[in-house]
Amino acid sequence: MLIRLEGVVLRTRDYGEGHKIITLFTREQGKLGAVARGAKKPRSRLAAVTQPLTHGLYLCHAGGELATLSQGEVLHAFSRIRDDLIRTAYAAYMLEVTDRLLAEREAHPRLFDQLVGILQQLEAGKDPEILTRIYELHALAASGFRPHLDACVACGRLEAAAFSVREGGFLCSACQQTDRDALPLAPAAVRVLRRLARVDVGQIGTINVKPETKAQLRRLMRAFWEEHVGLRLKSRDVLERLESWTEERPAPLE
Ligand SMILES: [Zn+2]
Repeated sequence: MLIRLEGVVLRTRDYGEGHKIITLFTREQGKLGAVARGAKKPRSRLAAVTQPLTHGLYLCHAGGELATLSQGEVLHAFSRIRDDLIRTAYAAYMLEVTDRLLAEREAHPRLFDQLVGILQQLEAGKDPEILTRIYELHALAASGFRPHLDACVACGRLEAAAFSVREGGFLCSACQQTDRDALPLAPAAVRVLRRLARVDVGQIGTINVKPETKAQLRRLMRAFWEEHVGLRLKSRDVLERLESWTEERPAPLE
């Protein structure tokens, strides 16, 4: 059966002589693997459409465990992301998060639209770290790891003073001591986190977040991931090295 899928290439690996197996995140069927025959050959008509990060239309023979890619059309190559080392690292991280969190053939059309929208914003030059935090929150929620950000996880008060990684959500100032390891948060970090978890990609205007708030959110998301998901991500190591270089770079002269 021939099916038409809209997808983003999450990763590829070599397969036999000149072939590739690509992992697609598709709007219609979620994550799935497809064999792309001859795609490694430079002149193959499948070469461009099977590059990681490509957003395209894919005509596949479905059937066994792996689909077979018959034709493809590039909708968006995201070349302005590929031209930039930092943006490429953030995109690679979001693709790996998607690949590791989603089960095979489980459709998440809303998350798919969020990913495409976020990659478009990344290409347009919006803050990569904020976009990544938004996408992480959406991807975690879609795969059943939603952090509890509405109210204190212990008593239900709206006020939040810390984030309990163990409990997976906010604690108010009265309940903060119930988890000695809870990460204290400035009110700005609480506000930003709540906003990022709710924001729709289409509505992202300019979200101005101070570097210290971004650093708090980064530590929080990393700790949450380690506690609840626990998978090691290669792309995160790369990203963290890049982030530490950016932090160490002296401020530009006025
Ligand atoms: Zn409380």
